[in-house]
Amino acid sequence: MKVDCIFCKIVAGELPSQQFYQDELVTAFQDISAQAPVHVLIVPNQHFNDLGEMGDAQAEILGRIVQVAGQIAAREGIASEGWRLVTNIGKNGGQEVFHTHFHLLGGRPLGPLLSR
Ligand code: 5GP
Ligand code: ZN
Repeated sequence: MKVDCIFCKIVAGELPSQQFYQDELVTAFQDISAQAPVHVLIVPNQHFNDLGEMGDAQAEILGRIVQVAGQIAAREGIASEGWRLVTNIGKNGGQEVFHTHFHLLGGRPLGPLLSR
């Protein structure tokens, strides 16, 4: 656990969140500033600054994140209409919280991937 990291604190239950899912590898919780009807953040329980720090050794964690995203999409009733799973890395990626997280977004047409 990285002591000054808000997502580490959310994983540990030291900061409140609306939790969707938790197991030994990953935690999913509501984004505090939702940009779509469904906006869930899925994070590894272990601290990594971003996806670029994760690799083969984290294959199980990354696989779990993708699996949990699909489960939450189904549970939230957006699986058939479609959804998006994105992660931002670094300055040009627009990353603001430096604990790897994937945004699960859906519940409305999400438009183009990038603003033009
Ligand atoms: P990024 O820009 O790093 O990809 O996304 C960070 C996300 O974390 C943003 O969508 C932001 O709304 C969300 N966020 C920031 N602080 C908190 C918090 O304290 N709690 C929760 N649940 N989400 C947060
Ligand atoms: Zn962290």
